[in-house]
Amino acid sequence: MKLLIARPMTAAVEARARAEFDVEVRSETLPMTHDEMLRALREFEVVVPTLGDQFSAQIFAEVPEPRCKLLANFGVGYNHIDVDAAHAAGVAVTNTPGAVTDATADIAMTLLLSTARRAGEGERLVRAGDWQGWHPTQMLGHHVTGKRVGIVGMGRIGQAIARRCHFGFGMRVSYQSRSRKDLDFPAEYFSDLTALAARVDFLVLAVPGGAETRHLIDAGVLEAMNPSGILINIARGEVINEAALIAALQAGQIAGAGLDVYEFEPAVPQALRNMENVTLLPHLGTATEEVRTDMGHMALDNVAAFVAGRPLSNPV
Ligand code: NAP
Repeated sequence: MKLLIARPMTAAVEARARAEFDVEVRSETLPMTHDEMLRALREFEVVVPTLGDQFSAQIFAEVPEPRCKLLANFGVGYNHIDVDAAHAAGVAVTNTPGAVTDATADIAMTLLLSTARRAGEGERLVRAGDWQGWHPTQMLGHHVTGKRVGIVGMGRIGQAIARRCHFGFGMRVSYQSRSRKDLDFPAEYFSDLTALAARVDFLVLAVPGGAETRHLIDAGVLEAMNPSGILINIARGEVINEAALIAALQAGQIAGAGLDVYEFEPAVPQALRNMENVTLLPHLGTATEEVRTDMGHMALDNVAAFVAGRPLSNPV
């Protein structure tokens, strides 16, 4: 069984992979090229791809009888893989849910607090040597404790964010999801996204990417938000129409945004980079040693199940 891992992994994960499998670990940190994906499907039984590796229907069409039987994705989001085309080609797909939940919720709170309290702008001021001292009206931001938060996509990460907002910051939680949830904290369900956007101070996105959620946040939703409203995205960049977001920020329709992901990642529009009221992170959601190791083990557990002929732990 030949295994290809598409990026360097933490030392613990690489050590396990080398001990348990006949593995090739790609040394590049950039996404796989078209030719690399074709080789992966032709020459390896199992591939561990990740964000940016575009296993599209076209790629599967170019390898009609792939040697590969499993794409054990590293990450919970798998919108870069055409799962229907994979299944049609006889390739199973797994992901790494759960391992990423708390770390990603923590980054959502980092963005929410940083944007509301102007932490990035303040840090830049201090670093530039331009701070002239405290005064009662210096850099006034938006109060967070007790405010209203709206979660779009009340799944694992959405609920972890909601818990932090409710228990940590006494916030009133509202949400929108495809289905109503049975939760152990108070939360108001909205079936209508625009109504939710109009209701809250912070709108936080935690839905999966893909065709169904592309541009879920468009000019209409942004227009419905309060002028003091702040939009937070830890989901996938394509969930927001980025041009519409820039227009809304430039027009002062909303007060700010905190973004971990971008529509054309890793490209971040200059217009966003110019705005002080926008917090920009380089897709840090799961970026801790422990979490990346847990994700790697989860992906390798799926590989091990496949090799042993056991049911896959996290099929999608
Ligand atoms: P999850 O448990 O599957 O939750 C996704 C939620 O989105 C579910 O509650 C689902 O509703 C809801 N949803 C799906 N389609 C929707 C739609 N069209 N409109 C409204 N709600 C919709 O997934 P998760 O583990 O929380 O992860 C969520 C996403 O976060 C991942 O897919 C990934 O793309 C992203 N993520 C980003 C980072 C990062 O580094 N920034 C890290 C991890 C994950 P139902 O429950 O009603 O079906």
